[in-house]
Amino acid sequence: MKLDRLGDFQRTHRNGDLRLDHAGQTVRLLGWCRRVRNLGSLVFLDLRDRWGLVQLVANEETADPELLAKLKAVRSEFVLAAEGVVAERESKNPNMATGDIEIRLTGLKILNTAAPLPFPLEDEGVGEDLRLTYRFLDLRREQLQRNMVLRSEASNLIRNYFRKNDFVEFETPILGKSTPEGARDYLVPSRVHAGEFFALPQSPQLYKQMLQVSGFERYVQICRCFRDEDLRADRQPEFTQVDVEMSFVRQEDIQALIEGLMVELCPLVDQQAVAPFPRLTYKDAMEWYGSDKPDLRCKIKIQDVTSLFAGSEFNLFRAAADSQGQRRVRGLFLPGEAAGAYSRKQLDELQETAKKLGAGGLPYAKWGKDGLASSFKKFISAELEAELKTTLGIHGEGLAIFAVGTDDQTSRVLGDLRLRLARTFGLTDTSAFEFLWVVDFPLLQWDEDEQRFVACHHPFTSPHPDDLGLLESNPGACRAVAYDLVLNGYELGGGSIRIHDAETQSLMFRTIGIGEAEARAKFGYLLDALSFGAPPHGGLALGLDRLVMLLAGEDNIREVIAFPKTAQARCLMTDAPSPVDERQLRELHLVQDAKQTYRVGAVFFESAEGGVDAAKRGELRGQALQQISQMTPKQTQGLVTLDAQGQILDAQTLSGPTFEF
Ligand code: ASP
Repeated sequence: MKLDRLGDFQRTHRNGDLRLDHAGQTVRLLGWCRRVRNLGSLVFLDLRDRWGLVQLVANEETADPELLAKLKAVRSEFVLAAEGVVAERESKNPNMATGDIEIRLTGLKILNTAAPLPFPLEDEGVGEDLRLTYRFLDLRREQLQRNMVLRSEASNLIRNYFRKNDFVEFETPILGKSTPEGARDYLVPSRVHAGEFFALPQSPQLYKQMLQVSGFERYVQICRCFRDEDLRADRQPEFTQVDVEMSFVRQEDIQALIEGLMVELCPLVDQQAVAPFPRLTYKDAMEWYGSDKPDLRCKIKIQDVTSLFAGSEFNLFRAAADSQGQRRVRGLFLPGEAAGAYSRKQLDELQETAKKLGAGGLPYAKWGKDGLASSFKKFISAELEAELKTTLGIHGEGLAIFAVGTDDQTSRVLGDLRLRLARTFGLTDTSAFEFLWVVDFPLLQWDEDEQRFVACHHPFTSPHPDDLGLLESNPGACRAVAYDLVLNGYELGGGSIRIHDAETQSLMFRTIGIGEAEARAKFGYLLDALSFGAPPHGGLALGLDRLVMLLAGEDNIREVIAFPKTAQARCLMTDAPSPVDERQLRELHLVQDAKQTYRVGAVFFESAEGGVDAAKRGELRGQALQQISQMTPKQTQGLVTLDAQGQILDAQTLSGPTFEF
């Protein structure tokens, strides 16, 4: 098809902006054909641009035949320039912003054709792999267009917010040295320094601390971070952080700053954040919600019922009561008729889930139409029932579930089932935005594999001032001045007040098994910096992808990233990662550099008349080779370099006759 040229055609309006007020005006529009429909004597075409959709129409009987022919040649996703007059529609479409009007076509240019798409853009059920392979088409879909624009809006607002608050924006290196954030590094081999590697930043943690030592006091960066981890729905190998660091601050100051940002961000999606956000210690979060990122949209809390079973005949629970806190019985109550009527089969399924989470079973008690039913009913006296009701806050019908074991075990089971069942029974207010700060995280945790303590946040986090003494005596009990911002059950970000003196930093390194020599080799510059007047400082980083995901109401960060990787850490559109040729690997010193340079030359000698016998021939060849190997490079006629496979990499003739290599 012969294409029309754009020439100096310019749009007069954005498609989505046209309203009844424009009736009678001649307009020029640009965009993609969403679809064409031939209805009797009328041909309709929906034209889409970034700002919306508008209906174009031509009447077979009155339109110019050339225009009509062109219009009929148009297929979905053709790129068009259209001219026409805005007119009130006869049958209006209330579901469309421009549904009151249509454009009576007077001119049409076909700027480009489009092959049939691999999937219809309106289809909600297209497999993600196909969508990601053709991401450039997928991104034409309204929902993704909306998400990308929202992301851009959010980033701009964030930049302005920090600027307004006197922050300086920095760019820190992508090629850097490994910083331990607890994940695996992406490494970049150095061509210039054989055998040495840069690490892509897991975060700019130490750079931003250095900038505090340099006296900038307020640092911000919207930066890309890289972590080579097994992926989950809300993780990507590269992701974006809003990274913040400040000098002379307490955690409350950082929290207040970030709360202010959330208050400004929420109206982007007609939500509201009310500061200050609630604070919950890590210990309480685990105790009441079984999670360090509790979803407060569901109000149900886990309760400890261990003591109710002291002296009980129910051995499983009594044993926990006798264990002096080693094991506990914890439970939670889901109110409502539906929960009270949960069937045997449903409870069996729930039990399977609980087992997958590490529980032995799932003791339950439910109050339904027929009163109490329970997996341990014969042990529930009227008195115990009354006590359970008081402790678990049981009113009316509903379902109580229990877990017995160590705190970790019972938190894992009940934390997960709390969310699952709250969703099932509609006990989560999905329209709400519930922010909170989780504070007082433990500083360290014991790593069974490595048989040493590791930092829960990172090793630059300050111990809680009240627990400093514990760092040497009982490191596992030491709290950190570390805080996470949580929204609707997602960790939006986290940070800490940092260690700002070299002595405490060295002690911290020692505690996590990094000796003095290793500390110097890896973090010498940090220890130096801390000894040259480092101010007290702290900060945090927010996950921008996750934040935008929640603002957009999505449940997968890939929906708010233009070109995300799959869960297998692959880009299906560009097919990265991909193999590279051996030469590149060799340059980067990643394959054994087996090239060898040989001297080459020719030695002429006369053979005896009548030929030489095999033994003599061998001897002559030996002499010739010996001569060549004894020559200096100048005397040989050439040098040739071969790789390990015998391929010629380089060849040069030095003197004498020319060699064809
Ligand atoms: N660098 C930390 C992280 O990426 C955030 C911080 O402590 O500021 O989690």
